[in-house]
Amino acid sequence: MTARWSERQLAMLREIGVQHFWPVAAEAAQALPPERAAAPAPRQAVGPVSVQALAGGQGAPGHQPVHHPVQAAERAPDQPPVAEPAPSPRAARPGAASAVVAESRPSVTLGPRPVGVETMDWPALRASVEGCRACPLCEKRRQTVFGVGHPQAQWMLVGEAPGEEEDRQGEPFVGRSGQLLDRMLQAVGLTRAEAPPEQQVFIANVIKCRPPGNRNPLPEEVAQCEPFLLRQVQLVQPRLILAMGRFAVQSLLKSSEPIGKLRGKVHHYAGVPLIVTYHPAYLLRNPVDKALAWDDLCLARELLNAPATPET
Ligand code: URA
Repeated sequence: MTARWSERQLAMLREIGVQHFWPVAAEAAQALPPERAAAPAPRQAVGPVSVQALAGGQGAPGHQPVHHPVQAAERAPDQPPVAEPAPSPRAARPGAASAVVAESRPSVTLGPRPVGVETMDWPALRASVEGCRACPLCEKRRQTVFGVGHPQAQWMLVGEAPGEEEDRQGEPFVGRSGQLLDRMLQAVGLTRAEAPPEQQVFIANVIKCRPPGNRNPLPEEVAQCEPFLLRQVQLVQPRLILAMGRFAVQSLLKSSEPIGKLRGKVHHYAGVPLIVTYHPAYLLRNPVDKALAWDDLCLARELLNAPATPET
């Protein structure tokens, strides 16, 4: 089991807003027997921030070209928690209560998916993403956002889709939510900067092109883009995937369960253990839930620190 948090990490935790919460979680993690760490029961946040039931959610992205309800639930930080709203500022509607709205959406004309993605190496995959015209997102993008990090990273982080700044810079999570993500990573001894594969993460999105106006990605767009992410997972072969936010979670797990129901357990994607957590943009709007995200990071860390057990 890992050593105690250093003063430096403590300071980082305070910086991301988890000042009272962390030591108890860290102690609890250390006290866990390996078998519990390998197959943890649903966890709860401890300390002054209590876990509260998270409800709601939306249907998983399907692959049918039909109308899908999209939840755009929002809550102000001082309101009771609700299910994670649409996970990026693109759906932020400050002040609106939990609500399910039918999104009016244009019909989507799809192009052909690139062929042979499942056997591509890194350069071929990157080129394929750059040249992709499989959905209408290619028309408005400045550039594709492939992903960054160590090609053999132990941790792979998966978000939703590039926003404006990511579209401009060609790198995932470089806006405000990216800054929070970097601080969260730092707090658990990880980084996106060059480092050994135990420390340097790989960060990718489900969708490689920015949806215009930061709208929610459509199910068809998610489906067209999915082979790229799957291949990235196969090439990186991470020991753990951290799925951040509703779109990433629902897309990877093919689940319509809300984040609140899925977190605290170990799931799998393409044979890789997967932990569910909130999207950093959601945490920026709901800082009190950073404690829950911190709990998720602790669970992920425990999982990696646990001795490998044979698959049953
Ligand atoms: N939100 C995401 O999900 N991904 C990004 O790259 C940026 C913001």
